[in-house]
Amino acid sequence: MDFNGQVAVVTGGARGIGKAIAEGLAKKGITLVIADISLEQATETSAEVGKLGVKTIAVKLDVSKSDEVTKTFEDVSKEFGRIDILINNAGITRDGLVLRMKEDDWDAVININLKSVFLCSKEAVKIMAKQRYGRVVNIASVVAFMGNPGQANYSASKAGIVGLTKTIAKEYASRGITANVVAPGFITTAMTDALPENVKEEMKRAIPLGRFGTVEDVANAVVFLASPDSGYITGQVVHVNGGMYM
Ligand code: NAP
Repeated sequence: MDFNGQVAVVTGGARGIGKAIAEGLAKKGITLVIADISLEQATETSAEVGKLGVKTIAVKLDVSKSDEVTKTFEDVSKEFGRIDILINNAGITRDGLVLRMKEDDWDAVININLKSVFLCSKEAVKIMAKQRYGRVVNIASVVAFMGNPGQANYSASKAGIVGLTKTIAKEYASRGITANVVAPGFITTAMTDALPENVKEEMKRAIPLGRFGTVEDVANAVVFLASPDSGYITGQVVHVNGGMYM
């Protein structure tokens, strides 16, 4: 995988899966922009990832705000002169059964998880099209394919990402840009760690590989799709879920 001189933007890169993706890309020598709603956490992560020997910067960005997105991509383009990789990873949950779900919770999840992918991809693809090269990797979820009680907003946002990604893939293939989805299953994070042991055991029984995924399991798939080696793969969904959905 030759990533020589490449620049990547990772949204929600300050912690969790986004941070692991940033680390995975940094190990390949890629210049990194860690864009997150929390500047403090992004700055900390940027300093940590920078220890791997790459240039990194932290940017405060709310991915659901079009003016902030436009400014961020303009600034990155001015600073580094190119953007090769966009990882749309920022995401939130606001769970509730459909009958009880507040409209605000629906809107927040759709805006931060789905509209953000449209806004960030639009800005990145502008730059990538001029370069005639780009990799867009969008983080969805297994629930986009299975549904999940209590997650109407979240599963709709993640299913929307799949259609959006396939469309970007078709519209910009001729410009050397690929767009793919990584759909994680249950990944060990602070959130899943906090679940009671019996709940975790029951969830694991639904996973043929018998364990939760790690953030590195997700990052490994993302790094491959972000690399020049994945050049004949576009509009695809890579499921990283231990076999719980196939
Ligand atoms: P996480 O630990 O909560 O990290 C998400 C990051 O995104 C945080 O740094 C968060 O900042 C940031 N963020 C939230 N809202 C934002 C906004 N409006 N603009 C910019 N950044 C924002 O989540 P994760 O578990 O790593 O998940 C990462 C992605 O994987 C998400 O898209 C998620 O839906 C998906 N996913 C996760 C799992 C799982 O099991 N963990 C499974 C399937 C899919 P704050 O911390 O300051 O809010």
